Amino acid sequence: MLDIRFIREHAAQIEQVAVQKKIAVSVPELLDLDERRRELLGQIEVLRNERNRISQTIPQLMRANEHEEVAKAKQRANEVNTELGQLEGSHEEINGKYRELMLLVPNVVSPDTPVGASDDDNVEVRRHGTVPEFAFNAKDHVALGEALDLFDIPRGVKVGGTRSYFLKGAGLHLHRAVQQLAIDYLHGLGYTVMDVPLLARGEAFAGTGFFPTGKDQTYRIEEEDKWLVGTSEVPLISYYADEIIDVGEPVRLAGVSNCFRKEAGSAGRDVRGLYRVHQFAKVEQVVLCRDDHELAERLLQEMVGNAETLLQMLELPYRVVAVCTGDLSQKNYKQYDIETWMPSRGNYGETHSASNVTDFQARRSGIRYRDENGRNRYCFTLNNTIAATPRILIPLLENHQREDGSIYIPPALRKYMHGLEEIKAQ
Ligand code: AMP
Repeated sequence: MLDIRFIREHAAQIEQVAVQKKIAVSVPELLDLDERRRELLGQIEVLRNERNRISQTIPQLMRANEHEEVAKAKQRANEVNTELGQLEGSHEEINGKYRELMLLVPNVVSPDTPVGASDDDNVEVRRHGTVPEFAFNAKDHVALGEALDLFDIPRGVKVGGTRSYFLKGAGLHLHRAVQQLAIDYLHGLGYTVMDVPLLARGEAFAGTGFFPTGKDQTYRIEEEDKWLVGTSEVPLISYYADEIIDVGEPVRLAGVSNCFRKEAGSAGRDVRGLYRVHQFAKVEQVVLCRDDHELAERLLQEMVGNAETLLQMLELPYRVVAVCTGDLSQKNYKQYDIETWMPSRGNYGETHSASNVTDFQARRSGIRYRDENGRNRYCFTLNNTIAATPRILIPLLENHQREDGSIYIPPALRKYMHGLEEIKAQ
């Protein structure tokens, strides 16, 4: 959420960002509602003061036996109460509409974000590693998984419906090895590792900017205001909702969770294999800090660097792209994606997404800190994937396959794989 004063002063800029981010919200309508709501509040205030004055004068008039004046005052008090009731009703209605629109207003975009319409316009920042050239008929991860009995997609679909899977044997170990490596790595960097609630209230989703816009992507527990999280960012940020916290040092958290996504609007896209599934596991970096743009930029680069280090430990080629305006979600001020080479796609595929959200989530969630002058200010929040699996199994299996059908396991993973140096057919 943005500060309404900021919206008033930057209406044209926000209208432009809404168009860029493809969010249907009318800024003039919002400003009109804001004006009406403030006008009503003013009128309500005047009447409340009058009511207070009357209720103070009635006892005095009664003591003075001013019967006629008492009756007049009582009549006026009744009129004031009726008027107040009407105005408060109108205010509630207008304020409700105002809040609805406020929740749709997008965050502004950093000046260095490339302008573009879709992910085709994202701009490559750097590449790392060498893309493999196979001198044999390389398989895709689905064929590798079948040959090595690492997962079972047909039976996953039989049990869980489309985009479901079972992980088996070495496939499961690899999936957990990547997560444990990520957890241990972030722990070593001083992140507080947290297991989070996978069910959260609608308020937590709204507070973190995932509702109302992402509601169609979220599974709901029937007849309850509880929803399955699509990322641990929702519970991790909400952990501090309505609190004043200490960000003298940035608060670095690592969330470990399963993630559930409806993938509405993705029908027919990435239907083969483990790329786009309804349930996956993710270790996520979340950082809260002072509202300082330079500091947030440094932290964003640090969090991207952490993910790059992990990919280097996994010996995978990747590239970092700056996400363009048209591909930024409502809450994001600036975003980098990391895409890892996926031989079967003949291309890089997104495996990580890093965002600076500025104070957009903290305003919605009420997360503040006290600055050096004792003033309460909203925190800045940032997030980035460190490892999301099974998607990361795609580059792991495909890049590290060998001609004899075995899979090389990078040394960083071996201690989580019972010392296994390769996966081969039994
Ligand atoms: P996001 O939280 O949307 O930025 O996604 C972070 C990472 O989670 C992505 O870069 C992917 O690695 C992974 N991910 C997101 N959605 C899916 C999905 N439907 N299936 C598998 N992995 C996913």
